[in-house]
Amino acid sequence: MGIERKETVTALRKVGLKTAKLLGNLEIRTVEDLLYHFPAYYRDFRAPQKIAQAEEGKLLLVRARLTMPPRWIRRFGKTTIFTFEVADGTGVLDINIFNLPFLFEKYVLGQEYLFYGKAKLFRHRMQLDNPQVFEAQKAPQVLAYYPLTAGVSQHMLRSAVKTALETVDMSEEYSPAFREATGIWEDLEDFKSIHMPSNPEESARARKSLAKKELLLFHRMLELSAAETCQREPLVLSEQTVEEFLAKLPFVCTGAQKRAMHEILADFQKPRPANRLVQGDVGSGKTAVALYGAYAILKAGGQSALLAPTELLADQHYASAARLFGNRVRLLKGSTSAAEREDVLRSLENGETSLLIGTHALLYGALPFQNLQLLMVDEQHRFGVAQRAALLQEHPSAHMIAFSATPIPRSMALILYGNADISVLDELPPGRVPPATHLIGRAKRDDMYAWIAKKTQEGEKAYLVCPLLEHSEGIDACSVLELQEELAQKHPKMHTEVMHGRMNALQKQEIMERFRRGEIQALISTTVVEVGVDVQDAHIIVVENADRFGLAQLHQLRGRVGRGGGKSYCYLVSDGSGLERLKILKNCHDGFEIARRDLALRGSGELLGQRQHGAESFRVVDLLEDAELFLEAKKTLGMMKKTFPRDYAALTARAAQNLQCSQGQRGSI
Ligand code: ADP
Ligand code: MG
Repeated sequence: MGIERKETVTALRKVGLKTAKLLGNLEIRTVEDLLYHFPAYYRDFRAPQKIAQAEEGKLLLVRARLTMPPRWIRRFGKTTIFTFEVADGTGVLDINIFNLPFLFEKYVLGQEYLFYGKAKLFRHRMQLDNPQVFEAQKAPQVLAYYPLTAGVSQHMLRSAVKTALETVDMSEEYSPAFREATGIWEDLEDFKSIHMPSNPEESARARKSLAKKELLLFHRMLELSAAETCQREPLVLSEQTVEEFLAKLPFVCTGAQKRAMHEILADFQKPRPANRLVQGDVGSGKTAVALYGAYAILKAGGQSALLAPTELLADQHYASAARLFGNRVRLLKGSTSAAEREDVLRSLENGETSLLIGTHALLYGALPFQNLQLLMVDEQHRFGVAQRAALLQEHPSAHMIAFSATPIPRSMALILYGNADISVLDELPPGRVPPATHLIGRAKRDDMYAWIAKKTQEGEKAYLVCPLLEHSEGIDACSVLELQEELAQKHPKMHTEVMHGRMNALQKQEIMERFRRGEIQALISTTVVEVGVDVQDAHIIVVENADRFGLAQLHQLRGRVGRGGGKSYCYLVSDGSGLERLKILKNCHDGFEIARRDLALRGSGELLGQRQHGAESFRVVDLLEDAELFLEAKKTLGMMKKTFPRDYAALTARAAQNLQCSQGQRGSI
């Protein structure tokens, strides 16, 4: 008997509670989550190089034989080292193995292995220290490398995934005839090809197949949830509300902000619910537009809700809103105490609260609004499609406004948001100079940190972003913990602190507060520091191994600095890879343009583009890359209805069930 895909990972052989808890840090809870935890990249072991091609400091993959048996260099004590020599006919290479004494016996003279690691020159001999090793006969063709977190190794993930693929019971959702007609595969085949492909093309094809299936379900859900254009009373509001609101702000709004406010006002005056997407680059001032919406509704005697994807952002919005609305705004989060929650609910019921700000999970279900008129969702792309559809269904007559910094083309936004009206904030607040962006190679890195140490002593604040939390086997990238240690040694005066996804909301909030107050000078983090986070006087951001991030993501990251005006700096550290892509950021500051050019550059040459984390509400679909699949799915659905009525009925049932699930879903993010 196999196991179901919705079961928790502990159903898998050799996955206990401890492992399950660690996997939870990667948002992996069910077997299905595990299968959807796609590799960040693959390494192709099919084409080894020659030893003669080895270059100091570069990664090297060779197939070579032991020409001298292993010998001990240091056998006892804390550190053990043994070494052996291998050759491939073009040269010889020394392999040094540190602290893995039990492997000594494993290496056999004359035997052929595959070695992969960073080459270094030592006393005129090429060497590899603790390379990855495979017996030549058993070497994988292509090996998957996963995004990791502390305590989770590549090995752990690979073996859990393997077990899952061997034991999961996937009842097939589509008929063979339908799959044939549309070029999709069975789920199990897709997942096998993603995790253990025999060549990179196979994994790309599987991804596409999964994306198609995801889109079919998505479109069907949209169709089911699209309320028949329901009627509602227009709100009685004067044009004056915009002027009144503007007068309350501590800054002068941009033309684009004012235009968006007027568009929202016009929505409210219509006899049907608004469905609007406000799209604007990071720092374009979306919050003020949202608060205008809440203000207008307050004037009309109604209530609004503003949903933020994280507690940090909810806190930040609450602080801005409280300045304008005083005690008419309340905050509800996962960490809100029961007594406080009671009080908030009471104030919603009797109408004392006009604006409720919260993390989205809390707003599901029956909150006792006296008169909810407006629902706003910030950083829309962070929410699941199912969640949005469910919200719409739950509050069919409320106005809906979504805010997003993700640069997706207009045509796609229309599909994604179900024919939404779109406001574009295409103007940055005046005096905002885009961050000067510099590419930093290894050689200049020390100078850069010395400069940052000096600047922070003078009162500057810096974000330092690393791709990993902890050092990880097989991934040659800087980690948060390593960077902290390095800086503690080199610049002991600089007060650094680390922040990461395993901290709870309260811990993160406290760290952000200390950073804001200047008690922390440099904040070292993975990308958990949310895109929308607003620390006005932070002017420096460093991204280590910048080539590991998508351009759109880097652009959003640098949007964290210079928010309060003044000259700001973004340093993209890279060892030389991905330079062409990174150069785009140096000269271009338009999120849409960056996304477009990134897409054009990332051809099929690369094994697999980095997935753009954070910018996904789909599990597989990539908003930018799968543009044409959106239209295709819509067409397929029409064809399916006519030609494959059984498949269509089954899909409809799944879509309906999904909508229901996400309506009942609670808990905090
Ligand atoms: P985003 O669009 O990324 O959500 P925010 O709403 O967080 O941007 O605004 C970024 C920063 O710019 C905030 O500190 C906000 O107070 C400020 N801001 C917004 N609009 C203006 C403006 N018109 N003039 C000056 N500062 C502004
Ligand atoms: Mg924002």
